[in-house]
Amino acid sequence: MQKVIIIKYGELTTKKDNISFFLNTLKNNILKTLSKYEFDLKMDMGRMFIYASDEVLPKIIQELQYVFGIHEIILGYIDNDLEIDAIKNNSLDLISKKEFKTFKIETKRSNKHYPITSMEISRMVGSHILKNIANINVDVHNPEVLFEIEVRQNEVLYFDTKYPTLGGYPVGTLGKGLLMLSGGIDSPVAGYLAIKRGVKLEAIYFESPPHTSIQAKNKVLELANILAKYNAKMKVHVINFTRIQEEILKKLPNEYLITIMRRMMYRIGERIAYRNKCLILVNGESIGQVASQTLTSMKAINEVVNLPVIRPVACFDKLEIIDIAKKINTYETSILPFEDCCTIFVPTHPVINPSREKCEEYEKMLDYEALINEAIKNEEIIIVGEEESNKKFDDIL
Ligand code: ATP
Ligand code: MG
Repeated sequence: MQKVIIIKYGELTTKKDNISFFLNTLKNNILKTLSKYEFDLKMDMGRMFIYASDEVLPKIIQELQYVFGIHEIILGYIDNDLEIDAIKNNSLDLISKKEFKTFKIETKRSNKHYPITSMEISRMVGSHILKNIANINVDVHNPEVLFEIEVRQNEVLYFDTKYPTLGGYPVGTLGKGLLMLSGGIDSPVAGYLAIKRGVKLEAIYFESPPHTSIQAKNKVLELANILAKYNAKMKVHVINFTRIQEEILKKLPNEYLITIMRRMMYRIGERIAYRNKCLILVNGESIGQVASQTLTSMKAINEVVNLPVIRPVACFDKLEIIDIAKKINTYETSILPFEDCCTIFVPTHPVINPSREKCEEYEKMLDYEALINEAIKNEEIIIVGEEESNKKFDDIL
C-alpha cells in the first residue's frame, strides 16, 4: 500500500459549464502553495491525488488546509491488489491502528466489472475485522469510525484520516477585488470572506504620517501578510492621505469630516481598482456600527463610485466578526493599540444623516481632484506574502 493524499472538490463539481476552469485554477493554486515540496499530482474530474515521501506528506496536508476550493482532504492508501483477501487484510491493518468501539465499512465500486458487489465487499471486510479485533461492534447509523473503501479500475483506495478544510472557491476564479484594509478587526475578516468566495484581493491602505505611525502601517502590512496565506501573496497600495485629511479638517464643517473623508477614500479606491483590473471594492463596514455606517451615511458615501462595494460583514454582529478574526488569526494583530487615520480625526458630533447636497457643496471648497491625483501619483506598492519577504511584520511593531 502506498500513502496518498486525496482531495475532493465538493461544491465545485456543480459548476458544470466552467468546471475545467475552476479545477485548473485550483490545481494551479495548489501547485503554487506546494512549490517548495517534491510531490506528484494526478487529477481527474472527481479528485486530485498527491503522492510524496512520508516526511513531506504531513507538511503538504498542513498547507492544503489553507487552500480555498478544497472540500475534503483525506490521507488514504492505494494498492493495486484487487483481490478480496488483500482488501480484507489491508482494511484490517489500517483500522486496527485506530481506537474505537463501533465502526462501519462503506464501499464504492467505480469498477463495475468487479465480481463482488459493494455491499458484499463491506460485509466481508466487516466480518473479517470483527473476527480479528475483540470488543467492537458494527453500528450502521452512528459509527465512531467510518472506514471507506473504493474499488477502482486498477487499484483500491482506502480512506484513512480526514482533515479540516476551508471550502469556498479557488482563489482567482471570480476575478480580482480591492480590499480597503485598515488596522481594525473588521476589514481583515471582510477580506478573508471575499477570498473564500474565490475573489483574489489586492489591498489599499490610507495612512496619514506623521499623525499615524510606522507601527500603524506595519500592523496593516502584518494583517495583509496573514491574509496573503489564503491569497498566495498580496499587493498592498499604500496611499498617503495626510494632505487630503488636513485640507478637510481645515476647510470643512466638523460634522462632515468623516463623511467627506470616506468619500475621498472611495474615490481613490475606485481609481486604484480600475487601474489594477479589480472588479469590486471590498470593505469592513457593518450596518449601524458607527456614524459613518448608518444606511444614510453608507448611501452618501457610496454615491461617489460606480464599482460594486461588497461588505462581507455588513450584517454581522461585532462578536461574530471577532469570532472569525480569532479563527483566522488576525484578531491579536488587529487589537494592537496603534492609531488609524480615522481615529485621529474623530469629530465630536459626526453627522448621522448626511445629505448628498451638503457633501457636494462642501467638497467644492476643496480642490479634491488635484489632491486625489497627487495621492495616487505618490502611492507606494508593497507586496506581502512572497517567499523571500515572508517575514513577520511584527518585528517592527
Ligand atoms: P473596527 O474594527 O475598529 O471597526 P474598522 O477597520 O472597521 O475598524 P471603521 O472605521 O469601521 O474601521 O471603517 C470601516 C471600513 O473602512 C473598514 O473596515 C475598512 O474597510 C475601511 N477603512 C477605514 N480606515 C481605512 C484606512 N485607513 N485604510 C483603508 N481602509 C480603511
Ligand atoms: Mg468597523
